[in-house]
Amino acid sequence: MNPKLSDRINNMATSATLAMAAKARELREAGKDIIGLSLGEPDFTIPDFVKQAAIQAVENDYHSYTPVDGYGDLKQAIITKFKRDNDLVYQPAQIVVSTGAKQSLYNLAQVLLNEGDEVLLPAPYWVSYSDISKVAGGIPKEIKTTIETDFKITPGELERAITSRTKMIIYSSPCNPSGSVYSKKELRALADVLVRYPDIIVVSDEIYEHINFSGKHSSMAGFEDMYDRTVVVNGVSKAYSMTGWRIGYIGAPEWIARACNKMQGQVTSGANCIAQRATISALENPPSKIQYMVDAFKARRKIILNLLSEIPGFKTNEPEGAFYVFPDISYYFGKTLGGTHINTASDFSLYLLEAANVATVTGEAFGDPNCIRISYAASEEDIREAIQRIKAAVSA
Ligand code: PMP
Ligand code: GLU
Repeated sequence: MNPKLSDRINNMATSATLAMAAKARELREAGKDIIGLSLGEPDFTIPDFVKQAAIQAVENDYHSYTPVDGYGDLKQAIITKFKRDNDLVYQPAQIVVSTGAKQSLYNLAQVLLNEGDEVLLPAPYWVSYSDISKVAGGIPKEIKTTIETDFKITPGELERAITSRTKMIIYSSPCNPSGSVYSKKELRALADVLVRYPDIIVVSDEIYEHINFSGKHSSMAGFEDMYDRTVVVNGVSKAYSMTGWRIGYIGAPEWIARACNKMQGQVTSGANCIAQRATISALENPPSKIQYMVDAFKARRKIILNLLSEIPGFKTNEPEGAFYVFPDISYYFGKTLGGTHINTASDFSLYLLEAANVATVTGEAFGDPNCIRISYAASEEDIREAIQRIKAAVSA
């Protein structure tokens, strides 16, 4: 804490996912053989059609500022994608392209929240929802879930969490970190509660839409009575392995999209021009072109779940999407492993880093202090070796 800095930044937590990834990188540079399972970052190279579009954009001399909310033809490609994959209809004024879905979420919090507004976060939730809400003056209100209910909230739990100050609910489905996917029926049951509170905005983070192993993706925006107050957040980081390209987007009610456009015009002027051109190609190609990555994630899920089931004290749900497992490891609290006393999930995650050279992320950062998150967006070889090391470390 530096008193010369603003309260805003002093009160903000460092992103736990990025902090762990940085720590792993540092240790690796210092010569340690670290296996990084902390970051949700596909290990595939980008598809060739994306690469070629970017090269073409450079050769065609794209270099200037783009429209703040994204190139018109990119917005058109997003509209076509929404119709093709989600049966959602949007007009160009409802689409805003940003520097990653993270900025899309940041924009939304900035344009929607006033001081003291409450933001419902079904927990576990993605690490940045909480601080993105807080920095905009919002108050995160966790709705706790457990592994027994597959980390999903019920309509009753949702209703009990709503107050006169509730402005927004943010959730991801497929969920980072639990991998849980809300079915259409489950979403409808939540929508039946929300229709009674028409002022609450729904932020539906669908960035893992395509990484879904068990069925069809459903969106809250697909319900006619929710469309006008649901913002769909999506992006190309996960499905197209384009994390470093930093392109995310929203489909939103027009008044919200216009506000995000205004905010972005003062903050970034818009997303990178070459990455936007490449994204057109990513979205114009059918999802079948990236199925090989989804198949690989599914195979790795099976491997990691099997291996984890052999370790005492690791309780897992079966994630239906994304590329994380989120085991409850509270069994180890109060125990001593290799001379280290474990009281919290952070202690456990740090112990794994030190004793097993495996980087994971503590569940505390996701609003669940009993769990740790393990990303299986890594090679099969790394997954096998990492889990083997974890097994050895917890029996020390
Ligand atoms: N939402 C979720 C649920 C995520 O896991 C991530 C991490 N990539 C993001 C949003 C942000 O993604 P982007 O790389 O597009 O900023
Ligand atoms: N979203 C990824 C994760 O949860 C990347 C890191 C980040 O953006 O925070 O690991």
